[in-house]
Amino acid sequence: MNYLFDTQALTDYLQDHKIPAFRAKQIQQAIFKEGILDIDQITTLSKDLRDQLSQDFVINDFTLKEKVEWPETTKFLFELADGKIIETVLMYHRHVRPEYEDEIKQRKILRSWTNHDISPKTHKLNRITICISSQVWCAVGCIFCVTGKLGFKKNLPRQEILLQILYANNYIQGKFGKKEDGTWNRVRNVVFMGMGEPMLNYDEMVTSIEYMKDQRALWLSKRHITISTSGVADKIRQLIDDKVDVRLALSLHAPNQELRKELIPMIAKRRDIDELMETIDYYTSSTGNRLFYEYIMIRDKTDTVEIWHQLGKLLKHRNAHVNLIPYNENPAMPNLETSEYDQILKFKKTVESHGVTVTVRDTLGRDVQWACWQLGYEVIMKQRIEDMEAENEAVDSDK
Ligand code: SAH
Ligand code: SF4
Repeated sequence: MNYLFDTQALTDYLQDHKIPAFRAKQIQQAIFKEGILDIDQITTLSKDLRDQLSQDFVINDFTLKEKVEWPETTKFLFELADGKIIETVLMYHRHVRPEYEDEIKQRKILRSWTNHDISPKTHKLNRITICISSQVWCAVGCIFCVTGKLGFKKNLPRQEILLQILYANNYIQGKFGKKEDGTWNRVRNVVFMGMGEPMLNYDEMVTSIEYMKDQRALWLSKRHITISTSGVADKIRQLIDDKVDVRLALSLHAPNQELRKELIPMIAKRRDIDELMETIDYYTSSTGNRLFYEYIMIRDKTDTVEIWHQLGKLLKHRNAHVNLIPYNENPAMPNLETSEYDQILKFKKTVESHGVTVTVRDTLGRDVQWACWQLGYEVIMKQRIEDMEAENEAVDSDK
């Protein structure tokens, strides 16, 4: 089955069936701009044409297995048409309305304010970010990552990458409706920070980005699209050479080769940290973009005094923005613990003393994320065990 939002498939079909080309525009408008996920709801097309298209195309073939809502986040667990599972997360960024600023500040001081008090009355929705998956799980196998523990199943085709955003836009319309200016609320920022290593699914990632930027499709700003990578140096180079002009976040996690090899074995073994940093310098000099460095805080592993200074020296002259991520503890990795909060603050101060910008992912967000990781872990492990059992049974019955 083809996806109706796949430009090539649609154009070929219209030509083959002698349907006027302007229909493509109407269809793209309905899917990308109006958030329609059901062919029968594209009422700018005749009923006959809708029926005809439904024979050969789908828009959405995801099954929503689970949805978890927090005030600031919605997490979707999708089952793909082939039965595999991915996660997509929406994050809502809100501003406190000026008339409530004092009240909320006061309640925060008194600690009577909680995340659950967020309401449209006191907070205005500012922007929505989506965290998308690029692969069904991941081959890189970082020692702190649940997705890595699950191993690799497949690369997502561009359609399944994009459908995460289309699904989200449809959902956002239902949840938030229109903005005060009369246009639909929709995803504004996309980050490739869900499951998988996007650079190891390079071609599909790049094509999906073309749709994200295309005026006829999602029409997002290049500044609002971020690829997060564990450091696949040759692909970072290719990204620059192919002029895929979007933001880049590097999951560095370690300032020296030895520690990187321990944390991110597959990638660090392929290319050492010196070569990676040379590539990063090539990226910043070619694009002029500032790089985001993700740095995970694992107790006694990535947060020691010696390492503070190493990281500071490594990034000193590199126009860097470091984001310290408190490690999300998980029963799959019983040997790893989150750094003490005090230690994180000391770490921050020292790296800053080298002239580097450092932020810490806040603890409120962390609680939300932590819960979210736990949930994914449990549901996915269950699925994986079921898969394994089914596979074992198939092997057994072959015997
Ligand atoms: N593969 C890409 C993008 C997906 S991972 C990458 O590694 O960059 C997205 C982010 O989640 C990465 O920065 C990763 O380091 C982080 N992450 C993975 N497991 C984590 C955990 N247990 N606690 C905190 N952050 C984690
Ligand atoms: Fe997880 Fe990213 Fe490492 Fe893959 S590369 S195992 S997704 S942190």
